Amino acid sequence: MPNIVVLPGDGIGPEIVDEAIKVLKAADAKFGLDLNYEQDLLGGAAIDAHGVPLADSTLDKCRKADAILMGSVGGPKWDAIEAAKRPEKGLLKLRYELGLYANLRPAILYPQLADASSLKPEIVAGLDILIVRELTGGIYFGEPRGIRVLENGEKQGFNTYVYAEHEIERIARTAFEMAQKRGKKVCSVDKANVLEATVLWREVMERIAPEYPDVELSHMYVDNAAMQLVRAPKQFDVVVTGNMFGDILSDTAAMLTGSIGMLPSASLNQSGAGLYEPVHGSAPDIAGQGIANPLATILSASMMLRYSLNQSAAADAIEAAVGKVLDKGLRTADIYTEGFEKVSCQAMGDAVVAAL
Ligand code: NAD
Repeated sequence: MPNIVVLPGDGIGPEIVDEAIKVLKAADAKFGLDLNYEQDLLGGAAIDAHGVPLADSTLDKCRKADAILMGSVGGPKWDAIEAAKRPEKGLLKLRYELGLYANLRPAILYPQLADASSLKPEIVAGLDILIVRELTGGIYFGEPRGIRVLENGEKQGFNTYVYAEHEIERIARTAFEMAQKRGKKVCSVDKANVLEATVLWREVMERIAPEYPDVELSHMYVDNAAMQLVRAPKQFDVVVTGNMFGDILSDTAAMLTGSIGMLPSASLNQSGAGLYEPVHGSAPDIAGQGIANPLATILSASMMLRYSLNQSAAADAIEAAVGKVLDKGLRTADIYTEGFEKVSCQAMGDAVVAAL
């Protein structure tokens, strides 16, 4: 019986995760998935209960799980806490401790939502790109880091951008393998004209590429990639990049699709276990109002079925159900445009269940 640890987190997290579980239970009834759920706390909710954003007991459960389904963490209530104990640290620690080095962020524009994008429909219609972001290294984890006081009394903030060869090799392989199943193109994004860490990144990408002769490798500097993503995003198939550049570019890619509320993500480790979460944050501005879009979390649950639980038929069915609901004209507030039916978070979940 596959064991799923469910971490709703903060803000809209509990609302959207409830809808995803509802859909998973419906898929379970249809496909006999036999899933077992264990709910626990992460982020601000864990700080309130245990004084830390990720309790050791929660981490233990996650280590033993087949997959983790998460909502989102953080919010103004915990903003004043010292940096080392903030909600996001719980998530960073979870990613790091489980070795979740590969973050997969598809940016797919459902044709029904082409008008929701801020770009012209012809530039984004049919968009289907996959951003593969390295998640456990780079400047977000590099040591030394901190804020120090210089001899003249002025404060100086500092971080370290560091990548070892094995970290680049494994994310390269993930990107090439994903590309083999898609459009067979990998664009590696770096800043090799300025940063030595990414000179090595580029070298390793070149070294691994011949192992995947059916995949075409290209390179792009991150500033150009940011520009190309909004100028002609359909030129990309798989984009692979480091932690910080991936953080920024994947949010840009997210907005190409019109709503951050539509985008799922998966973070995988070498054993195939994974953490599945929507790309967006805890949206404190709309938490508790029942208006959040649960589709990113529902689609994250479907990625979980596909990548960690080997249930691609159930995953296909959930994705098709989401398409049907959009076809019917149902929209949460974030993707609503005139002429469509505005529905609540819960009604959107119910509609996906009905379409399943
Ligand atoms: P956010 O993604 O939470 O919100 C940005 C905007 O998008 C807001 O207007 C919000 O209402 C809207 N939005 C987000 N998700 C939505 C959904 N499902 N349906 C409808 N609208 C949605 O980003 P933020 O405001 O920068 O951050 C809020 C909090 O979330 C912060 O504490 C931040 O640290 C945290 N955060 C957490 C994660 C995570 O858990 N992985 C990621 C990003 C931000």
